[in-house]
Amino acid sequence: MRDLRDDTRAGFLDTFGREPVGLWTAPGRVNLIGEHTDYNLGFVLPFAIGLRTAVALDPRDDRVVRVASALSEEVAEIHLDDLHPEMLSGWSAYVFGVVWALGEFGADLAAVPGFDAFIDSDVPIGAGLSSSAAIECAVAVALNDSWQLRLDRRTLAAVGQFAENHAVGAPTGVMDQTASLLGEHGAAVFLDCRSGTSEIVPMHLAEAGLEILVIDSGVSHEHATGGYADRRASCDLAAQTLGIASLRELTEADLPDAATRLDPVTLRRVRHVVTENQRVLDTVALLRQEGAAAIGDLLDASHRSMRFDFEISVPELDLAVETAQSNGAIGARMTGGGFGGAAIALVPDHAVSHLRAAIDGAFAEHGFGQPDMFLVHASHGAIREE
Ligand code: ADP
Ligand code: MG
Repeated sequence: MRDLRDDTRAGFLDTFGREPVGLWTAPGRVNLIGEHTDYNLGFVLPFAIGLRTAVALDPRDDRVVRVASALSEEVAEIHLDDLHPEMLSGWSAYVFGVVWALGEFGADLAAVPGFDAFIDSDVPIGAGLSSSAAIECAVAVALNDSWQLRLDRRTLAAVGQFAENHAVGAPTGVMDQTASLLGEHGAAVFLDCRSGTSEIVPMHLAEAGLEILVIDSGVSHEHATGGYADRRASCDLAAQTLGIASLRELTEADLPDAATRLDPVTLRRVRHVVTENQRVLDTVALLRQEGAAAIGDLLDASHRSMRFDFEISVPELDLAVETAQSNGAIGARMTGGGFGGAAIALVPDHAVSHLRAAIDGAFAEHGFGQPDMFLVHASHGAIREE
């Protein structure tokens, strides 16, 4: 097993020819339930995972920022006086975008020094585990410390989202950054995206003999384009048509009335969001009252809703979910923004190896590429490591 911190420090030394002053990491996340509800100001229940992105950083004595990543040959460079979000592109937009967004949230960018940074990651890219939030949050905490900004974690989450929305151009919600910054060992983060308040909800998986298996379909998605933005636009339009600030205003009791005012496709999009919000609330209540073994039906229902109402699943994810459900999983659903990425299965620990073999077999039978599978455990949020 490689050591992410050692490799990141070594990458910094190789690239910039000196030692970094510090090293920070931020985790990817798995969303237990609550998909496409964040930008509708609803409820989400993600948890931070053990896979992390690291940034090693050292200040410079001029106003230049240089960033490199183990994933790219390019050393991207910008001057702090020339930060314009519309001019950023490629992977470095996630880093420079955070620098710019910190300025929008109160940092005095005219008064800070430049820096060199090297980034490495164990979070698979584009797999729906939010490598994007991991890189944003690692950079955000690194600069918050280095520049002594004293921004709190909720603000840093908003900074990451702002960067992703306006510098990268992906209209994503604040769920991923919240999980990456507020996550705690063994627990999920229950976030109300309207009030911005969050609660830590212990999952007690180990005590219940349960594991969460991630099945990465290998189908890659792009949030800046295509389906995700399209779904978000449908939700915004539905809220406008119904004369409400966001779909969060609706409950299931409002759906019959909405049906008379929306076209059938938009109604299904709305129904997903409304029922998914309720499933998040139900999941939190069950975790607290009965334990994780009781939430399987909610995971299954969430997948059906994404498959048939929100239409963001793909055949590989449906196959992973169905195979999991019929091979010992308590519940399963695709997770993340959809159109590819990963599914999760909640599974008794003794059934994990059987389930993995069943999924391998099913994918081979359907002529799909072998999925990457791994267990995830709820982990702590972004920290300074050294
Ligand atoms: P996801 O968040 O599901 O992994 P996204 O499309 O939202 O997928 O974000 C992936 C993008 O984030 C990559 O294409 C790249 O531009 C950027 N990125 C994430 N991690 C890194 C990294 N370690 N180095 C460079 N770029 C990264
Ligand atoms: Mg992402």
